[in-house]
Amino acid sequence: MSPLSLRGESRWRLRAALISVALTVCAVAAPVLAPRGDAPAPPPAVAEQVSAPHHPAAAGDRSVPPARRAVSRPWVRSVLVVSIDGLNPDAITALGPSQAPHLHRLIAEGAATLNARTEFESTQTLPNHTGMVTGRPVSTDIGGHGVTFNEDNGGTVRATAGEKVRSAFSAVHRAGGRTALFASKPKFDFLDRSWPTAIDKYRMEPDNKRLTRLVLRDLRRQRRTFRFVHFSAPDTAGHASSYMSADYLEAVRKTDHRLGRLMGAIDETRRLRRHLLLVVTSDHGGLGTSHADATRRYNYTMPFFVWGRGIEGADLYDLNPQYADPGASRPDYAGAQPIRNGMVANLVTQLLSLKAVPGSRFNTAQDVRVFD
Ligand SMILES: [Zn+2]
Repeated sequence: MSPLSLRGESRWRLRAALISVALTVCAVAAPVLAPRGDAPAPPPAVAEQVSAPHHPAAAGDRSVPPARRAVSRPWVRSVLVVSIDGLNPDAITALGPSQAPHLHRLIAEGAATLNARTEFESTQTLPNHTGMVTGRPVSTDIGGHGVTFNEDNGGTVRATAGEKVRSAFSAVHRAGGRTALFASKPKFDFLDRSWPTAIDKYRMEPDNKRLTRLVLRDLRRQRRTFRFVHFSAPDTAGHASSYMSADYLEAVRKTDHRLGRLMGAIDETRRLRRHLLLVVTSDHGGLGTSHADATRRYNYTMPFFVWGRGIEGADLYDLNPQYADPGASRPDYAGAQPIRNGMVANLVTQLLSLKAVPGSRFNTAQDVRVFD
């Protein structure tokens, strides 16, 4: 072999090695550099759906870009959101671990805060639940959902906002997942009417105890990617007997027990224990017999908990320095933001490794850390 041909071979080897390195760098960098949401494969959320075989590329772990690993986990295939209507966080403190063991378990084991915020504009039920499922503020001037009213007006969110409004239900449904809404006030018909296709199952049952049984049956028997459950009892007692009264605290205690039954089902069912995360929050707090004044601290302050596999007890604000504990204040949408109930929609999409809800405004970066 002549020196010339040796040099030639070396050059070829060098070039091959450089190409190989370059390809490796591209392969590693591509998912990071690609715009968010450009995950090549559908999310692991779809993998649980036996009824969604038309997603051959579902690849579990590998379908999640590295940037998302910080805020989601490949095993998360289902999210259960529980909204406890009118949950003043002082009630959790007043009842203590002996009277509200499950809410206290969420604090001990979950990513948690007792100092989250409602929508800036409203501390009423329908505006805040619409915010939770759409990830939008109220005011249409800033891209909000426009639902300023608190009773079902027979219309839809789209008609109210004057534009198509997507929700977490839409996002999950479009990805091939199955959804359900379990509510205990008739005004939730408004949300069901707004996303008739994306909400696969809707049950409105005012009796909170019976509603709990419906949810338990669904958790145990159905494979579902996203469930939203609404418990009305504390709010009902608050209006009837005053928030923080003995009757109100008793309603929170019972709701804690019902929440505990759902958590028990998650503990006992391998599929749920391994693949489901629980989010618990509220639409508003309250004191006296009303919670209508959005400028009152006791109305705009509510808890926010995320609990399940891979999450360890931590304060949500400690985990998320990009959000600021508002203290006693009521931040508007400029400047440092608190954890808000309106972040639910894109916490759901984030945890399921789905793109953010189109048109949403809260947690569009999908960067809320709940895992250590
Ligand atoms: Zn109320």
